[in-house]
This record gives sequence, C-alpha cells and structure tokens, in this order.
Amino acid sequence: MARPVLKINDLKASVEDKVILTGVDLEVKGGEIHAIMGPNGTGKSTLSQVVMGHPKYEVLGGEVTMNGEEVLEMEVDERAHAGLFLAMQYPSEIPGVTNSDFLRMSKKARLKEGEKDQSLMKFIRELDATIETLNMNPDMAHRYLNEGFSGGEKKRNEILQMLMLKPEIAILDEIDSGLDVDALRIVGEAVNSMRSEDFGCLIITHYQRVLDYIKPDFVHVMMQGRIVKSGDISLMEKIDAEGYDWIKEEVGIEDERVVVEAESGRPVRLDSCGTKEKLGL
Ligand code: ADP
Ligand code: MG
Repeated sequence: MARPVLKINDLKASVEDKVILTGVDLEVKGGEIHAIMGPNGTGKSTLSQVVMGHPKYEVLGGEVTMNGEEVLEMEVDERAHAGLFLAMQYPSEIPGVTNSDFLRMSKKARLKEGEKDQSLMKFIRELDATIETLNMNPDMAHRYLNEGFSGGEKKRNEILQMLMLKPEIAILDEIDSGLDVDALRIVGEAVNSMRSEDFGCLIITHYQRVLDYIKPDFVHVMMQGRIVKSGDISLMEKIDAEGYDWIKEEVGIEDERVVVEAESGRPVRLDSCGTKEKLGL
C-alpha cells in the first residue's frame, strides 16, 4: 500500500453564513502524527467536519485530496471508503443500532472491490479483543451506539471504531476531553499502536495533556480559522509554559476567535466588514 496522504489547500468554509475557515493549509502523511492546538472557537472542529463532509458546512473555496482524489466531491461514506476517519468531539447517539452492528456495517462499507468480508466469528473475536484492550465494559458491543454512554465512554468508543476500521488518516477531535488519566493513557497507547507508514493522524486539542501520551511530529496552532504557526513538539511545550498570547502578538491579532457575539446578540465575524472580499470570495 502506498503511503496515504491527506492534503488540505487554502480551505475556506462557512456555517450559517458565518465564514469560519479562512484558508487552511495542511498535509498529513502516513507515518506522521500532527497536532492542531488552539483556543476554543478558532475553527478546529469546523475543519474536521468540513473534511469529513458534514452537510451543515459550506465550502467556499480550496481543495482537499486524499491520495490524490478530490474529497470535497465525495459523499461521507465515500470519504470513509477512501480511508478517512473522524473521531468526533461530540459523538451522536443512535438508538436502535447496536455498537457491534454499526461496526460490522462500517467495516463492510470499507471493503475494497473484490475484497472478501471477514467472517462473523472473526469479527466478534476482533471486537471482543479490542474492547478488552481499551478496558471497556464487554457489554458495550451490544448497547445502542453511544446511547446513555458517559462522556469518557463515548470517547473510548470513538477509538474502538478507529481500531476496528483501521483508517489510513484519522482525525481525532478533542479525544481527550472528559477522560481521566487512565483512560487518557489507554487512548494514547491505542493511537501509538497504530503508528506506521500506513497511518497518519491529526489530533485536535486545546490542552496539551493528551500529547503527554502521543508525541506529535508536527504541531500547528489555529487562530481565526487558519493555521497561523507550525513547528515541532517544542512549540507545544512553549504553549504549555507561556500560553497563546505571544503567538497572537507575533501574528498581529487581538482576538483569536472566528466569530464574536455582537451587541445585538447576533454572532458576527470579528472583522466582518469586508471579510469575504478580503478572502477573495
Ligand atoms: P473550535 O473547535 O476551535 O472550538 P469550532 O470550529 O467548533 O471551534 O467553532 C468555530 C466557530 O464557529 C464558533 O464561533 C462556533 O460557534 C461556530 N460554529 C461552528 N459550528 C457551528 C454550527 N454548526 N452552527 C453555528 N455555528 C457554528
Ligand atoms: Mg472543537
């Protein structure tokens, strides 16, 4: 298998008429772990949703390719088939569909042309073993997807999906929120166990604590809907020690958020006058 590569080029997107992504450039290859850090409200989750194809977000410009194929033209299931995976910040509950049925269907949907489906026995064995690795309750397999799961259980369940589906590029959005130290370590080990030339990972977080367990090769900072600074792990250490103010100063911005509440209570873009024009949209 060729080394996978996800390329994001000058990606601009809006939600409910608010421009959120203002030109994101990023390339994630197999064998690499990238971290996107940044304060709340800077567009990190929006980036993951746009790459995965959430219908609420409108792409205004730019390109996303996965192994050279145009991602933005694809349906969500085609994106999964192409090897993309998203662990969501807020996973949805799907009553009526058990976790194990969901995983079995998702695995089937990812089969390449001519590839044979795994036997049910094999699937069950793999599922049970993976649930055990993640130190999850064995009855998780038979419960409805995320229904009544605690915050931490939902996060582990996203990692269970990643381990079972074996994507080529995984985006993990705030996978660390709601996890205690033990769960954090288990999730870290799971991601590390996937490290190979065939797997690339983008970890989105606004804390650095998950990065105690998963050492990223590249660290990026997102502000105002774009990546304003990139570096290696020393960038993360500096943010941990000094916060984000020095970056804002360096970039020359006062407010890192994409959208602020106006006096009217309606959200507006920080630099709403002429944003679209400035972005060339
Ligand atoms: P982050 O993940 O960096 O905290 P988000 O991408 O979630 O930031 O959000 C960036 C901005 O976009 C926020 O102001 C948020 O309220 C707005 N936003 C994101 N998704 C939606 C949505 N579905 N509907 C309305 N506003 C949204
Ligand atoms: Mg977010």
